[in-house]
Amino acid sequence: MTKVGVLALQGDVREHAAAAVALGANVTLVRRPQELESVDALILPGGESTTIDKLLRAFGLRDLLMERIDAGLPVLGSCAGMILLARDLVDGIAGQQTLEAIPMTVRRNAFGRQVDSSEVALTWLPDGSPMHATFIRAPWVEAYDPEVEVLATAGDPESGVHAVAVQYGRCVATAFHPEISDELRVHQRLLELVPA
Ligand code: GLN
Repeated sequence: MTKVGVLALQGDVREHAAAAVALGANVTLVRRPQELESVDALILPGGESTTIDKLLRAFGLRDLLMERIDAGLPVLGSCAGMILLARDLVDGIAGQQTLEAIPMTVRRNAFGRQVDSSEVALTWLPDGSPMHATFIRAPWVEAYDPEVEVLATAGDPESGVHAVAVQYGRCVATAFHPEISDELRVHQRLLELVPA
């Protein structure tokens, strides 16, 4: 059975764990290096990217995680998790670090403040199907290298259209929260990236 880790330092860990279990995965909560070593895929939950960044370093997980991603570990990051996967940030706080896993620039809090959370009807570009997405103080992808695949976009006449779901190698990132809207296609994509 595929062993999916959920980084459990801060954020909506339980919802991601439930999505992975619904897809038949075995879930491990990851707080220690040994737990990170043992998983076949990892989910970086939504929450607060500045806090998760600090805790990753405090728990001695950041370097190991960067090594595992380099070696091909499939990773899904939602919202704060997307921020953590970005190579570059706009509106990060002083000293904020990322895992530099996807060659993209992500703008934090791009879609507005917490109270501006929204529900948006998107198109899931891999198969053209509709997808209902929940954005909570969400980032967007401001720029990305040509090798990055765009899985969904969102926008309005004011802000323009931005990538809000992307994939690069075995890393998938969404600005929205598939784990809280009964949406399993994004987690399914992560599981499909686990080598047989
Ligand atoms: N604004 C948060 C951050 O910068 C992300 C919000 C979320 O994960 N829902 O980390």
